Amino acid sequence: MWQKIYFDLDNTLFSYEYAFQHAIRDTYLELVDHWKEAHLSVPDVPLDDWFEVFKYFSDVYWEDYQNKHISQRDYRRKRYMETMRHFHLPCTPEEADQFHASAYDRVLGYVQPFPGLYPLLQLLADHRFELGIITNGHAHIQRKKCLKLGLERYIPDQHIYISEEIGLAKPDPAFFKLVRGTCCPAEAALFIGDTWEHDVIGALEAGWQAVYLNTQNRPRTTSHQPLAEFQHLYQFYQFIQELLR
Ligand SMILES: [Mg+2]
Repeated sequence: MWQKIYFDLDNTLFSYEYAFQHAIRDTYLELVDHWKEAHLSVPDVPLDDWFEVFKYFSDVYWEDYQNKHISQRDYRRKRYMETMRHFHLPCTPEEADQFHASAYDRVLGYVQPFPGLYPLLQLLADHRFELGIITNGHAHIQRKKCLKLGLERYIPDQHIYISEEIGLAKPDPAFFKLVRGTCCPAEAALFIGDTWEHDVIGALEAGWQAVYLNTQNRPRTTSHQPLAEFQHLYQFYQFIQELLR
């Protein structure tokens, strides 16, 4: 049996996709209100049409951003400006920056736990596993998400490991080794995450056991063997329930 059970955060404990989409849509609606108040004469573009095109350009430039051919700022500017131009709506690079700042502020408002999260954490806490989080990202943003999810009831602050603070990022096995420490054998540590390349490969390469929580239905890209694969967090909860019965 394991001693330590650690989780990824985004798209593992809550749907980042859901939160992000709602934040972007709210921000567009606010912009439309702003145009109306300013009596600007602009084409009337329904939210769903606008969002579909925004998503299209997000996907178009995603690879350039992933491959570091463009910066994060340029990625955001491109998808925003192209969307606005497509509909003949006004836009400047500065407005693109403002739009994204405003949208990312809203994401937190839509962070809500996946079904089964609290019964799962309660069950694991009752069985005295050490629980924690290993996440890549900015410390202040990731901590706010943890607070919004109320994770402090189950996971102490010192077991929340964030790449920005540690100076290591998934999938670097050194990150997992540091979290495991010296008292816990590698095979007694379990990691659950939604990103094959970061979470599953990272954990397995560090000798941990790993569960692929494939919430976005993405194919495996290597022949690594996780302990199990589920699409929904509550399925992992059922799996653990069976195991601890
Ligand atoms: Mg994730």
